[in-house]
Amino acid sequence: KKLGIALVGLGGYAGGQLAPALQKTNNCYLAGIVTGTPQKAVDWAKKYNIPQKNIYNYQNFDTIAHNPDIDIVYVVLPVFLHKEYTIRAAKAGKHVICEKPMALNAHDCQDMIAACKKAKRMLSIGYRLHFEPHTMEVMRLGQKQVFGKITGMDNGNGFVYNGDPNAWRLKKAMAGGGGLMDMGIYAIQGARYTTGMEPVAVKATQEKNRPDFFKEVDETVFWELKFPNGLHTKGKSSYNNNWGYLKAQAERGSFELDPAYGYGPILGKTSKGPIDFPQIVQQAAQMDDFANCVATGKPTRVPGEEGLKDMRVVDAIYRSLVTGKWEKIG
Ligand code: NAD
Repeated sequence: KKLGIALVGLGGYAGGQLAPALQKTNNCYLAGIVTGTPQKAVDWAKKYNIPQKNIYNYQNFDTIAHNPDIDIVYVVLPVFLHKEYTIRAAKAGKHVICEKPMALNAHDCQDMIAACKKAKRMLSIGYRLHFEPHTMEVMRLGQKQVFGKITGMDNGNGFVYNGDPNAWRLKKAMAGGGGLMDMGIYAIQGARYTTGMEPVAVKATQEKNRPDFFKEVDETVFWELKFPNGLHTKGKSSYNNNWGYLKAQAERGSFELDPAYGYGPILGKTSKGPIDFPQIVQQAAQMDDFANCVATGKPTRVPGEEGLKDMRVVDAIYRSLVTGKWEKIG
């Protein structure tokens, strides 16, 4: 049986990527929606053939508990709402996928993990790249030390934000931060999944070229991560630069992805030649894997703990931007 997914928050990512990907999944399907906009309920019901009984708003959301069509709730809301809707979904007895960045801070991530554990529901973060073949190859090259130990990394992710100046992404209370929260999380992930290690400390600096636009949130942030074996890696995030690469130097060679973090294509090469794998619909692979985990009880490779680890790094970067010093992670 295909498991039913309900998308919560029908914005750009849910409408542009997740709903189309759910037309290509094998283990799950778009069974329901949660929206505050009555016209979206009408449009989505028609477009995706969603029955009226599987359409919720933010007031009656908790009654989803009584709906056997919905196995998984996928939280695709602005960051400040991730915690509330993840916890409400778990309390309603649903397994949860929550979008990145997992929450406003690591403390909230811990509350979300605890709530899902208490409700005996699985929690996953929308880290689609863990299912992307070129990215999985980079994990293998780094973690299995195919070119020897990693001696350096440089990871950057960002785009030139020219959208609505009133958007939630530019409000600290709603987004938690700017380019670092939204884009930097991928560069942090890149360092963690390539090395297979957890960084222990970080030092960061920032730059603002458009202070009037990025009044409340960070624009461009640069950081250096320190790993337990002494390795230092570089990272950067931006709302004012188009970046999207992962570069690793190892004892006997190097490898890189560029573009590394988008919806695709993901392109890569090593010092020996191209990294060549099929391009896939990442979100379909990600949701199919989670549905399979729910059905079989197998742990997901991107659990809440994975989001928490990244948010510990993000929190430490923000601390370092204030103190100007190395900050411990955790
Ligand atoms: P968006 O602004 O396009 O959509 C957010 C939706 O939430 C809108 O439909 C909005 O109406 C709704 N919403 C409900 N209550 C709200 C409230 N109180 N205030 C504001 N909006 C409210 O944003 P998006 O780009 O779809 O991002 C949503 C989440 O998905 C974010 O966490 C983002 O980081 C994540 N995302 C992930 C990826 C990925 O590749 N994994 C890509 C894009 C976005």
